[in-house]
Amino acid sequence: MIDFELLPSTKQGLIGTRALAEGLFRKIGRHYDIHEHDKVQELHDLVAAMPKAPPKEKKEKRDETKLPKEPRKSEPGLATVVSMEEMSWGDVGIMLAFPAQGLGNAAIDAVATSEQRARFGQKFAAMAITEPCCGSDTANIRTTAKLDEATREWILNGEKIFVTSGYHCEAVVVWASLDRGLGRAAIKSFVVEKGTPGMTVTKVEDKLGIRASDTASIVFEDCRIPYENILGSPDVKERKEGLGGAMKTFDATRPGVAAMAIGVSRAALEFTKQKIEEEGFSFPYDRGLHELSYVQRTVMEMEANLEVARLLTWRSAAMLDTGARNSLEASMGKAKAGRAATLVTQKCVELLGPLGYSREWLVEKWMRDCKITDIFEGTGQIQMLVIARQILGFSREMLK
Ligand SMILES: Cc1cc2nc3c(=O)[nH]c(=O)nc-3n(C[C@H](O)[C@H](O)[C@H](O)COP(=O)(O)OP(=O)(O)OC[C@H]3O[C@@H](n4cnc5c(N)ncnc54)[C@H](O)[C@@H]3O)c2cc1C
Repeated sequence: MIDFELLPSTKQGLIGTRALAEGLFRKIGRHYDIHEHDKVQELHDLVAAMPKAPPKEKKEKRDETKLPKEPRKSEPGLATVVSMEEMSWGDVGIMLAFPAQGLGNAAIDAVATSEQRARFGQKFAAMAITEPCCGSDTANIRTTAKLDEATREWILNGEKIFVTSGYHCEAVVVWASLDRGLGRAAIKSFVVEKGTPGMTVTKVEDKLGIRASDTASIVFEDCRIPYENILGSPDVKERKEGLGGAMKTFDATRPGVAAMAIGVSRAALEFTKQKIEEEGFSFPYDRGLHELSYVQRTVMEMEANLEVARLLTWRSAAMLDTGARNSLEASMGKAKAGRAATLVTQKCVELLGPLGYSREWLVEKWMRDCKITDIFEGTGQIQMLVIARQILGFSREMLK
C-alpha cells in the first residue's frame, strides 16, 4: 500500500520551497522570460552565494517482495516531486535554470555510486540524449563511447542538441553507445564535466517557453573522461534493455517533469479561478453537473484532471522511494500531467479572454512554459506507446 501522507520533514521543507517560489521565482519570472537566459548569470551568482545542500544519501535497495511494513523514515522521491511542483508553480523556467535542479541531477541521484555521488552530487547537471538524427528514437543515437584500454579513459564522439541548461550547467549526463550494433543494451550514460577538452557548446536556442533556462547544442570530439564517470554498469549483457541501462534514468526524471507540469498549470488555474471569482462566480462542489454553468464545470474538471495527474505522479515517485520498478507508473504520470497541463493552461487563456492573451498577466507565459513538459524526457505520444507496450506485453517491434 502507498501512503501519501507526507513526512513532517517533507512538509517542513515545503514551507521554505514555497517561500522561495513565491518570494523569488514568481517575482523574477517575467524578467527572465523577456531577457532570456543571457541575463540568467545574475541568478546563478545569487544562488552561488546561498549555502549548498549536502549531497543526497543513496537510498537503500529494498526487496520488492517485502515492501515496507514499518513506517518510512525518508522519502527523497516524493519530497523531490513535491518541491519541483512548488518551484514550478513559482516559475518553471527559473526552476530549470536553478543549480541542482538539472535533469541530469535526477539521473545521477538515481544511479550513481556513493563515490560518484560525492564527486558529482553538488554539480548542476544537464541531461543530453537528443541528437540531430533522433529524439524519441533513442535506440538509434550515434554518439559513441570507446574505452582506451591504455589510459582507462572513455572517448566520446558525437553531437547532442536541445540540452536543457547545456550552457550554464557544470556537468552533462551524456547518453552514448558502447557498440552501435548492439542497440539499446549498449547505450550507457556518462558524466562529462564542463571544461573537459573536446566538449564544445555550439548553439543556444531562442524558444517559445522556459526562456530563463538555456537550451544548447553540444559537440563531443575525442572528448576523454575518466573510466569512473560511467553511470551504472559498463556490461552489455543482452540485446534487450537491461535494468542497469540508461533507460532507467527516465524512471527518475519523468516524475519530476510531471511535477513541473502540475506546478505550472496549478499556477494558471489558481489565478484563473481567482479572476473568475472576482467577477462574481462561485464554485459549488456539492451541485450536480446540470446545475453548473460552463465556466464552473470547466474549472472543476480542470481541477479534477490535475488531481489525477498529481496522484499518478506521486505514486511513481513513492515507488522510487520503496525501490520498486516504476517505469510504467512514471510514464503514466508524465503522459497524464503533460497533456492535462497543456490543456489546462490553454483553457485558462481562453476563459480569461483577451487579458489571458496579454502580457499584463502571466497566464500566456504559463501556457508557453508548460508545453515543454509534454515534449522533453519523452513526448506524450511516446509515453502512450511505453504504457501500451507494458500493459499489453508487446515488444518495441510489435508496437511502434
Ligand atoms: C526546450 C526543449 C528542451 C529540451 N531539453 C532536452 C534535454 O535536456 N535533453 C535531451 O536529451 N533532449 C531535450 N529536448 C529534446 C526532446 O526530448 C525531444 O525533442 C523529444 O524527445 C522529441 O524528439 P524529437 O525532437 O527527435 O522528435 P521526433 O521523435 O521526431 O518526434 C516528432 C513528433 O512525432 C511524434 N512521434 C515520434 N515517434 C512516434 C511514434 N512512434 N508514435 C507516435 N508519435 C510519434 C512525437 O511525439 C513528436 O510529436 C528538449 C527539447 C526542447 C524543445
